Amino acid sequence: MSTGSHRLLAGDAVINTQTLLSHQTLAEAISSTMYIYDTYESPWQDEELGMLRDACAKFFASECAPHMERWREQGEVDRELWRTAGQAGLLLAEIPSQYGGGGGSYLHETVILEEMHAAGISGWGVQVHSQIVAPYLLHYGSEEQKQRWLPKMASGELVGAIAMTEPNTGSDLQSVATTAVRDGDDYIINGSKTYITNGQHADLVIVVAKTGPGTGAKGLSLIVAETDANPGFQRGRNLKKMGMPAADTSELFFEDCRVPVSNRLGEEGKGFIQLMSQLPQERLNIAQAAVVMAERAIAHTLDYVKERKAFGQRVLDFQNTKFGMAELVTETRIGRTFVDRCLMDHIEGKLDSATASMAKYWCTDMQCRVVDECLQFHGGAGYMDEYEISRMYTDARVQKIYGGTNEIMKELISRTLG
Ligand SMILES: Cc1cc2nc3c(=O)[nH]c(=O)nc-3n(C[C@H](O)[C@H](O)[C@H](O)COP(=O)(O)OP(=O)(O)OC[C@H]3O[C@@H](n4cnc5c(N)ncnc54)[C@H](O)[C@@H]3O)c2cc1C
Repeated sequence: MSTGSHRLLAGDAVINTQTLLSHQTLAEAISSTMYIYDTYESPWQDEELGMLRDACAKFFASECAPHMERWREQGEVDRELWRTAGQAGLLLAEIPSQYGGGGGSYLHETVILEEMHAAGISGWGVQVHSQIVAPYLLHYGSEEQKQRWLPKMASGELVGAIAMTEPNTGSDLQSVATTAVRDGDDYIINGSKTYITNGQHADLVIVVAKTGPGTGAKGLSLIVAETDANPGFQRGRNLKKMGMPAADTSELFFEDCRVPVSNRLGEEGKGFIQLMSQLPQERLNIAQAAVVMAERAIAHTLDYVKERKAFGQRVLDFQNTKFGMAELVTETRIGRTFVDRCLMDHIEGKLDSATASMAKYWCTDMQCRVVDECLQFHGGAGYMDEYEISRMYTDARVQKIYGGTNEIMKELISRTLG
């Protein structure tokens, strides 16, 4: 691997491996990022992405892994991590460099996401920031909005969140009760949101609000609320969860919250269509994470069952273990090849909503099955917090819920069946 400065893409790409590599003080500590499928390489992987992968692995080993335990206890990552990641070029990798981004593609985002999960960094909402919020601004924002927000998001000065879910509605997005009523050049937003990733750190929140009450999907708009010095905005609790304790998942309250009309993304009433067109990427993203986390669970479990002895032999040597592990490895490989195909379709702009939904529901179900079986192969140790597999188990469960529940995924797939 080269340790020199290297432009990862031709043209305007500015992701720079030298900046990333300066964070490799704990380079030796990255054994957790090994992949067990040495024989399989994703067809989209190339040398450039391989260098980014190495650099990311080192960043997560040096800048995140040593703090993970503390972040779990404090219920969120340090705010400073956003700036450190910004300096290293890890934020907004697929956003054009004219807006401060890395000038890469979704493949660069994929590599960052994979390495984060492969390193066991759980709970940092960077994918919401880089792969959900930033693309909304890029695709639907005006030139002025993009220039105002994206460079600061790329540097980590601003943290982004998206607030769809409310205490009384999640899956049924058309029923959001939060309103945004015009008053001169402002909207006045009233309502509450919950389970919002990055809620405590967010400086800008894309709020899904009704601008035309009673008109269903056509009544929704996306409005960016800037949280700084905004008296109508309040953060609620950072909610305690069964897994991902380092994830900031918060309540947000809007009470006569004034936001300039110029902060709306795109036309009024287009919010639902905008959401529907961006959700496939979010779902693919969750599917990709599911595959990496399943692979990681398998790698940990193989280490364990090779070490652990029962009845005078390695636990791996029981036929039940060997066959069980063979099934898990196979299922995970199926997930990876499907996700790779979805990823390549997505790069070509061909990934449809139903296929993204298939990937999301199948891969997250698979992840939960794999992790559950892997925990079983650990015996009692698997139930102990000090064994990572127990954390993987509690972290995994939410994957079937957020980004649209797996039942909603099946609903979306079934709508294409005629
Ligand atoms: C850790 C975490 C982070 C999150 N981050 C964010 C975020 O950043 N921003 C955000 O806006 N939201 C976020 N969410 C919210 C998440 O997207 C919602 O929880 C999810 O969409 C489900 O909505 P709900 O909780 O209201 O469940 P409900 O919609 O109340 O669903 C309850 C049950 O009914 C089922 N159901 C509902 N409708 C149907 C149907 N038509 N057919 C069959 N079954 C159905 C569901 O599948 C589910 O099993 C997050 C959630 C969690 C747990």
